[in-house]
Amino acid sequence: MFGIFSYGIASPRAGFKTGDFVLDLEVIGLLGFFQGLPVNPAVFAQPTLNDFIALGKAAWLAVQDRINHLLNDPEQPLATIHDQVFIDVSRVTMHLPVQIGDYTDFYAGIEHARNVGLMFRPNGDPLLPNYRHLPVAYHGRASSIVVSGTPVKRPDGQFLRNDQPVFGPTEALDFELELGLIMGKNTSPGTVVSVDEAEDCIFGIVLFNDWSARDIQRWEYQPLGPFLAKNFASTMSAWVLPFHQLDAARIAGPVQEPEPLPYLQTRQPGHFDIHLEVFLQPANGDEVLLSQSNARHLYWNFAQMIAHHTVNGCNLNVGDVMASGTISAPATETSPAGTFGSLLELSWGGQKPVTLPDGSTRTYLHDGDTVTLRGWIETAAGRITLGEARGRITA
Ligand code: CA
Repeated sequence: MFGIFSYGIASPRAGFKTGDFVLDLEVIGLLGFFQGLPVNPAVFAQPTLNDFIALGKAAWLAVQDRINHLLNDPEQPLATIHDQVFIDVSRVTMHLPVQIGDYTDFYAGIEHARNVGLMFRPNGDPLLPNYRHLPVAYHGRASSIVVSGTPVKRPDGQFLRNDQPVFGPTEALDFELELGLIMGKNTSPGTVVSVDEAEDCIFGIVLFNDWSARDIQRWEYQPLGPFLAKNFASTMSAWVLPFHQLDAARIAGPVQEPEPLPYLQTRQPGHFDIHLEVFLQPANGDEVLLSQSNARHLYWNFAQMIAHHTVNGCNLNVGDVMASGTISAPATETSPAGTFGSLLELSWGGQKPVTLPDGSTRTYLHDGDTVTLRGWIETAAGRITLGEARGRITA
């Protein structure tokens, strides 16, 4: 996985995580190990991955090939310089991996959309009429996305209490279990990315927590959608898994009925069997598993999201983030914990508090709670883990 790290007095630069070590790509480049590749090693001395990503897919694959060779060559070319190029992961500080120009959050988790519909609009069809025809999304705030480990301050806002607007700290702070895509291509305005080309625009994938204040959201969201309930913070994992590594987990998605319009029809399976977990650690307690889900429960796949995003000619920029929307599994899935990707759903709108092993209950998050998202895929060669997205709530 690629990321941006610093340690000691060294400035942030690109690294590659392997086991419990970070391979310093700036130093690897300075030592000439990237010679012969279509890559100027100066891109690894930058405080974001944007310049590296902008080199394009052929360069990403060539660099990863070379790194794999350096790590797996039986002659161990890095053995004599181990301490120069490997840093124990416990010693590094991680930074946001990319400079994010734009952030779009989809709503592609159909179980979540259905659950929210049941709660927010109990008297109608839980899914709005457009849901199975297009991947719904909103434009979020890029500059309040923070790297895993950054504390998140409970936001103030306006919400209803006894049907009267009041102002104060949110009383319904929640997480959302999502995946984020890091865009790897610049396109100019007017360019349409077809569904078949869409995956080539993705550099990598991260875990993504779209923190949400449900009381503020419920009051403000009509008619234009989320605003202050969402834009105070989102947390993403520091390590980016290159997208092509997901190939081992590629699966067919759900049957899409009615059939989508031609520009959204995919020819190859575009879903991925990515195991997802949410953990909650109270201020003075142990971390507990709160929920288990899987990316196969998304209705729309990543290629369809990108094709829809660009079908009007909307441009893409390297470093843009597109998040999936909350990924809940059906309640019928078996799990030792819950299967939903938010406390809104796990506590069913606050009506069914979740009881933790220490006896305390949660409808929404308490100050001092830490939420951690984790994920992995199983491959013939073993498990590949994504980074983790962790954030602690402060008053
Ligand atoms: Ca969301």
